[in-house]
Amino acid sequence: MTTRHEPSPPSRFSIAMAPQRTYESGLRVAPGLEHPLASCHCGAVCIALVSPPSEVTACNCSLCASYGALWAYYTADDIVVAAGARTDTYACNGQRVDFHRCSVCGCLTHWVPRDPRRGRRGINARLLPPHWLERARLRHRDGANGGEYLD
Ligand SMILES: [Zn+2]
Repeated sequence: MTTRHEPSPPSRFSIAMAPQRTYESGLRVAPGLEHPLASCHCGAVCIALVSPPSEVTACNCSLCASYGALWAYYTADDIVVAAGARTDTYACNGQRVDFHRCSVCGCLTHWVPRDPRRGRRGINARLLPPHWLERARLRHRDGANGGEYLD
């Protein structure tokens, strides 16, 4: 099931989407941005993070394995999806979580629980600059068999 999502207004961070400059890594960053940023390949979806992740999770459930994502977990208050970021979503497992992907380049960017009382968010750490990803501890979650961590 695919759903089109319009952008929601920024909350705690202020991100100007244009004009953008480009990191040496190829990631696009708005001028003056002070927070770590995850960006899809084309730069249409940018997510500001309150801090780089100390650890990232590789989950072996069927969906995460298909995506090839590494997840960095944050609370809703500690991230903001930049205004203007258009995404499509996919939901499975009882439709409890929407997995967002860029409507332009198709990169998986983040997931959001449908229940607004659930404050947890997952950011695809593959979209972080490589030096942040390299510093994070890699953990393995057995999502295919109950969800316990293996390390
Ligand atoms: Zn994109």
